[in-house]
Amino acid sequence: VRAKSPRTFWSIEVKVYMDIIVQKYGGTSLADTQRIRAVAERIAETRKKGYKVLVVVSAQAGMTDMLVKKIREVCPAPHKREADVVLSTGELISIGLLSIAINSLGIPAMSMNSFQAGISTEGDYMRSKISTIKMDVIMSSFKFYDVIILPGFQGVNKNNEITTLGRGGSDITAVALAAALKINEVEIYTDVDGVYTADPRIVKNAQKIDRLTYQEMLEMSGSGAKVLHSRSVELAAKNDLVIKLLSSFNYVKGTDIRKEEDCMEKPSVRAISHNMNEAKITITGVGGDASNIAHIFREISKESINVDIIVQDMENCKSNISFIVSREDYSVAMETVKKICLSLGADEIKGDSHVAKVSVVGIGMKSNPGVAAAVFDVLSNEKISIYMISCSEIKISCIIHEKDTEHAVRSLHRHFFETGAKGA
Ligand code: ASP
Ligand code: MG
Repeated sequence: VRAKSPRTFWSIEVKVYMDIIVQKYGGTSLADTQRIRAVAERIAETRKKGYKVLVVVSAQAGMTDMLVKKIREVCPAPHKREADVVLSTGELISIGLLSIAINSLGIPAMSMNSFQAGISTEGDYMRSKISTIKMDVIMSSFKFYDVIILPGFQGVNKNNEITTLGRGGSDITAVALAAALKINEVEIYTDVDGVYTADPRIVKNAQKIDRLTYQEMLEMSGSGAKVLHSRSVELAAKNDLVIKLLSSFNYVKGTDIRKEEDCMEKPSVRAISHNMNEAKITITGVGGDASNIAHIFREISKESINVDIIVQDMENCKSNISFIVSREDYSVAMETVKKICLSLGADEIKGDSHVAKVSVVGIGMKSNPGVAAAVFDVLSNEKISIYMISCSEIKISCIIHEKDTEHAVRSLHRHFFETGAKGA
């Protein structure tokens, strides 16, 4: 059983109880001096309510991209250990600047790097995992400080090397800290005030979703709605910890990401997401033996390319296979496929880098069989061709031409959310 958040801790050192809240601020929330001051004010408000605040930060907006660029300029295939040394520095600037801003408001704050805070990692450079967090240094520092600020996205491995968690990884740090503290929620501040029923830039009637299950959030990030790092959502699910997604730019209620049982009402469709960053590859007439298919996808995975939807059918002992990769992987995937399929004697290899994926997500789909048919109805009424379809228990995705994306998202949103109570 989890303690209520903020959990009250008995501090042996100071012999007092303290209530700790974990807050994470992303790159746009810290983008410039004005934003850093605004975040410092917010943290000060939390402190004034009587809480100690454990803060996790990302690098300032654009900083990590700039570091990646600098690394590549020096060497396109850098030594990963050293790349991590560079990549980890963006967050260190953030912790220091934010601490200066909070201290200038008269609130005792201290930044700590991951060595000092005891955040341990394991696994490969640039995509390591947090293994343990020794909370004792952090906890005893709260004796003297009201706010402790830690860098997200990094830790120290058993060889005392700094490693990073993979892009967007500071969300993981925040959830891991809340889990280590055994509190039941973490506040994650970004530049959007929650998850919407569709991208508000496309659908002006998109509504904010109050509560979303972990599974829905994972399906949505997999289908284009990049709000949180998926590993942070998995970690929150594992520890039964509520992620409160909030904006640091306003004070409106955000979206809570939590377990299914807590979501009383289960609309069949919770949101429509889309991803324009897709490309499709089709191989026709390759010998239908499963070992050929295994061979093709093994070679693609050797290039560290992730494959999404795969569709295969067999005719006269020959296979036709279509699959989806992201656009930045398209040319390498095409080259790889051409090389193998030549040797396997395939008839033809075709590619299309102008496709998009539209997905309809909702936990209530499990018990509501009509959703797939409704999706296909809407798209066919709008004369939108569907190239590929993929379904999970709680998601239906369609691959369409990229030019149809906005049209598809708007039509599906209208059907599920704007005409009667079919959706949320
Ligand atoms: N600064 C890192 C990145 O841009 C980690 C993060 O922002 O979560 O990927
Ligand atoms: Mg982020």
